[in-house]
Amino acid sequence: MRAWVIRATGGLDQLQQSDVPDPPGPSGPPGAGALGPRHVRVAPRAAALNHLDLFVVRGLPHEYRFPHIVGADGAGVVDAVGAEVGSVRPGDRVMINPGIPDYSCEYCRAGEQSLCRSYGILGEHFPGTMAQYVVVPEQNVAIIPTLSTPLTWPEAAAFSLVTLTAWRMVVTRAQVKAGETVLIWGIGGGVSLAALRIAKLVGARVIVTSSNDAKLAAARRLGADVTLNHHTQNVSQEVRALTQKRGVEVVVENVGEATWEESLRCLKRGGRLVTCGATSGPDVRLDLRRVFWHHYTIMGSTMGNAREYAEIVRRLGEGQLRPIVDRVYPLAEARAAYERLAKGEQLGKVVVEVTP
Ligand SMILES: [Zn+2]
Repeated sequence: MRAWVIRATGGLDQLQQSDVPDPPGPSGPPGAGALGPRHVRVAPRAAALNHLDLFVVRGLPHEYRFPHIVGADGAGVVDAVGAEVGSVRPGDRVMINPGIPDYSCEYCRAGEQSLCRSYGILGEHFPGTMAQYVVVPEQNVAIIPTLSTPLTWPEAAAFSLVTLTAWRMVVTRAQVKAGETVLIWGIGGGVSLAALRIAKLVGARVIVTSSNDAKLAAARRLGADVTLNHHTQNVSQEVRALTQKRGVEVVVENVGEATWEESLRCLKRGGRLVTCGATSGPDVRLDLRRVFWHHYTIMGSTMGNAREYAEIVRRLGEGQLRPIVDRVYPLAEARAAYERLAKGEQLGKVVVEVTP
């Protein structure tokens, strides 16, 4: 099958379109080559990019099996199902939840799949979605909801990773409430944009930042109450001025080194900081005295569990949380899609059309 792969890490020059062996499918031989009893094979129609995909190509500290098929997010048509699969059938149109747990450890049994001892993500630890076929556990696909304006394939592909991540951060972890003020850094990014919409959904007042005024204008159209240009404005001073010198209840972080100290300066006494990423670097400075004196809560979050995924899919079916697609590239131009993401030009999701 055709797939975008890397044969070594190092950067976008490593990306290449290549022929690789098909994964197990309907006509696979019994035994090792057969589709697992609870696995489904999906033919992706579109794959959406995340910052994770850039990190995978640059090189992450886990073992790769080359050629490594890239792409975490995707949506497509079920092509084959294992013998015990009951929730979907060939021909079903599905979105893929790219977080793959073992569904058996103590965390999985407790319903916390994203805390799984052997948690992995498509396109990072497992063969990804930028291919003619991808194989996942049946629990990792959801039928695409029917909407009055049907979701396009790029929209469906763009949904899972960032919406799930932002939902867990804002709703489950930070427990943002109506009337609270939330600061979200870097509104062009997919998680930040999803966090903005979720925070508005629960009734919060939302302050967003970007270095790009056009993105800030778009964020206002999407419901942001206040926008700050973090290149031309001092964010913590502005936040203090906007909150009667108190600061915000919640900061949504995924930037890391470049924003961390400023994030803490923006936080109200008793405030919560939730982080899911470190796009500018992971080694932050933390003055513990500030943490205990101000009763700060700092919490980590990655992806989300099965219950949270079911909830965001349900909300999508009600017309909420519809993904925002920045640009769609044909499969042959996948590298250009990566470059757009690497330059941070996007507002919303950068998507690759796998099958027209
Ligand atoms: Zn587990």
